[in-house]
Amino acid sequence: MKILIIDDSKIERMIIRSYLQHLNHEVFDADSGETGIALFGDCNPDIVLLGVVMIGINGFQVAKQIREEFTDWVPIIFLSGKTAPEDVMIGIEAGGDDYLPKPIQKQILIAKMTAMERIATMRSQLLKTKNELELANEELERLATLDGLTGIANRRHLDITLSRELSRAKRHSEPLTFIIADIDFFKKYNDHYGHIQGDECLKSVASILNNTLRRPSELVARYGGEEFCMLLPNTDADNAKLVAGKLLNAVRRLELRHAGLSEHAIVTMSFGVMSLIPNRDLTVKDLMQQADEKLYQAKENGRDQWIM
Ligand code: GH3
Ligand code: MG
Ligand code: MG
Repeated sequence: MKILIIDDSKIERMIIRSYLQHLNHEVFDADSGETGIALFGDCNPDIVLLGVVMIGINGFQVAKQIREEFTDWVPIIFLSGKTAPEDVMIGIEAGGDDYLPKPIQKQILIAKMTAMERIATMRSQLLKTKNELELANEELERLATLDGLTGIANRRHLDITLSRELSRAKRHSEPLTFIIADIDFFKKYNDHYGHIQGDECLKSVASILNNTLRRPSELVARYGGEEFCMLLPNTDADNAKLVAGKLLNAVRRLELRHAGLSEHAIVTMSFGVMSLIPNRDLTVKDLMQQADEKLYQAKENGRDQWIM
């Protein structure tokens, strides 16, 4: 341990030092409260042995200042000839953790230090665990927003973001674009290639959709199965058409064979696009329903296209 002795009596300091010899501690000492506080900041001790009656600021004031200035708790043991109950009370209230009467008895000093060290170790373990828990929670929080198969945002994340962005668009009377996309004839794809290959197809499609929308404000999410949603804040109808065209072509350019359909067929997608400045009454459900109707029309119309 690093032990800091603060006492204005050189003899007292030497006696304590001699008690601590051979115990493998690193000992620092300060001859006044002021130098003690400065040294505390520099040497970062594990325990402080602090005289009470000193020239300059006394031990109680030193303890108080250390507690105010340094947030990390380090045990402070007072060493004092003043052992009246009220002195002990003042010492503990000032931020001390224990109170030893002078003259100091070697064995008691060492025993008290051992007890304090034990508490300090438990406390630092607790802090470490708390930090680890916080990190694990952050990671969990992040994972909870992602789709397990494709690694893009999941439906939960979409729901939260969509509701937030819809409110924002209403508040600022800004346009909002929302797209639902669905892979064409995916059942046949699975039937022909099997589910594992089907999953690979979903991953490729998710990745190309996600890479096609590059702005940080834009969101691509897997809504479920082979359906994906795209949310583009502050995007009007003209831009929505451009984006829909880009997405449609990006999927085509993957050129994923779809032999379940016909010999030269490739995987394509259909898109239902809604772009609007939402009025006050429009709900998330309305928006989804309307985009879904457009998607249905795109399917009816022959697939591999977008309808807005
Ligand atoms: P349409 O062009 O009208 O969309 O036809 P479709 O065959 O794509 O539509 P349908 O909804 O009938 O089929 C969707 C298929 O998606 C059915 C299901 O087996 C498959 N599917 C859903 N989720 C997954 C998944 O996580 N992995 C795989 N491999 N397939 C999935
Ligand atoms: Mg579907
Ligand atoms: Mg489909």
